[in-house]
Amino acid sequence: MTDLSQTNQKLYEGKAKIIYATADPEVLITYFKDDATAFNAQKKGQIAEKGMVNCKVTTHLYRLLEKQGVATHLIEQTSDREIKVKRVDIVPLEVVVRNIAAGSLCKQTSIDLGTPLSPPLVEFYYKNDDLGDPLLTRDRIAAMQITTADQLDQLVSKAQTVNTLLTNFFSDCDIILIDFKLEFGTDANGTLLLADEISPDTCRLWDKTESDPQKRVMDKDRFRQDLGNVAEGYQAVLQRIMTQVEE
Ligand code: ADP
Ligand code: MG
Repeated sequence: MTDLSQTNQKLYEGKAKIIYATADPEVLITYFKDDATAFNAQKKGQIAEKGMVNCKVTTHLYRLLEKQGVATHLIEQTSDREIKVKRVDIVPLEVVVRNIAAGSLCKQTSIDLGTPLSPPLVEFYYKNDDLGDPLLTRDRIAAMQITTADQLDQLVSKAQTVNTLLTNFFSDCDIILIDFKLEFGTDANGTLLLADEISPDTCRLWDKTESDPQKRVMDKDRFRQDLGNVAEGYQAVLQRIMTQVEE
């Protein structure tokens, strides 16, 4: 494995990834770690080979999205745990799309786990660990001047497109896309790009062929809820995606 820390300047170390500079100021390297956190980093651990799995899953899904006309920050995968990406100014919103109720939606509302949401919910959370990534409203986003109303409409529309494409793709892999989180940013030309990652860290994924409510979970909820076989869940997602792509 290349050790970028020997040659490249580390710009930022987050909870799951490290961002390195390259010779081109508009190009960054994202390094995927095995570190896992949950509940705003109150729970910490490691998931074996997670970095490799998330790097590969993100690369595959972003290529698939690019082919369908969704602009992303991905340039290329450069090693097992590294992708080269276009530098963007991250919009400090986590755009969450929910097809089936789970997680905080069930904790904060009267909606039961597993309830289908039609149409899917598109929600915005403020990307701010100190504040605990709070749920925002359109009016709050406007008051905070995070985006214009027009940019927010673009984010919603892009998130809905990604949802349609990924729901269909995962379904072909016998996986139900329950919900997921996206991050967006603007590149040097001012173009809005899908950034960050899409992986079992950032999606809820249920095995379509499994009805047991614990066994069906293939994502970070295995870690959050101490369900065991966490690394195996991640590997199973990768394996299904790879098999599907090769078909
Ligand atoms: P965090 O703990 O802040 O979530 P991560 O471990 O996810 O951090 O590391 C990735 C960081 O890099 C995130 O803050 C994410 O918003 C940011 N990021 C992702 N893609 C890009 C990009 N193309 N350009 C600049 N920053 C990015
Ligand atoms: Mg992150």
